Amino acid sequence: MRLILLGPPGAGKGTQAKNLIDAYGIPQLSTGDILRSAIKARTPMGLEAKAVMDRGDLVSDTVVNGIVSERLDQDDARKGFILDGFPRTIPQAEALEQMLAEKGVALDAVVEITADAETLTRRIVNRAKENAANSGARADDNEEVVRNRLNVYREQTAPLVEYYRGKGLLKSVDGMASVEQVTASIRTAVEK
Ligand code: AMP
Repeated sequence: MRLILLGPPGAGKGTQAKNLIDAYGIPQLSTGDILRSAIKARTPMGLEAKAVMDRGDLVSDTVVNGIVSERLDQDDARKGFILDGFPRTIPQAEALEQMLAEKGVALDAVVEITADAETLTRRIVNRAKENAANSGARADDNEEVVRNRLNVYREQTAPLVEYYRGKGLLKSVDGMASVEQVTASIRTAVEK
């Protein structure tokens, strides 16, 4: 199974990806997680990405395309993957298409997790407060940055919905339902 989870920040892509790993036995590939590990490890890529991420802007297509290309070459991604947070721009989607074509494989589905912007802002700001309590706060989880991330989503990532609809790959699920219900809806949508 080769899936993309698409949706605004806070829609629950990461949580859903983790549930789907268990269901399908395929790895989650989160560019955000990989970038955060690079920041922690103080690699040159991490140091460069940090300021951009702290503002809630997008890291360059070249950098994230490189991350994905390397990750897709690893053994565990051969039988499938769940992309979480990539692609986020049309050029990234085109780069992905080329990477997959070179491997002779194709996407099975692109799942859009829909959610309302105000609820999302509240969810992320709450997540920040909870994490701050155990010093695990993400630097990009404060209200101003969250609003920027939602704007960036609307401007640069939302066009992917129509892009993938045009390719006949898009499935939309209501992300405002409970975590379990959303997982069930995704499974029904992709197994159809
Ligand atoms: P996420 O964990 O998916 O919310 O990503 C956190 C941050 O990492 C984003 O706000 C971006 O700054 C950066 N990032 C993650 N994935 C991408 C991507 N595909 N393209 C550009 N920037 C990304």
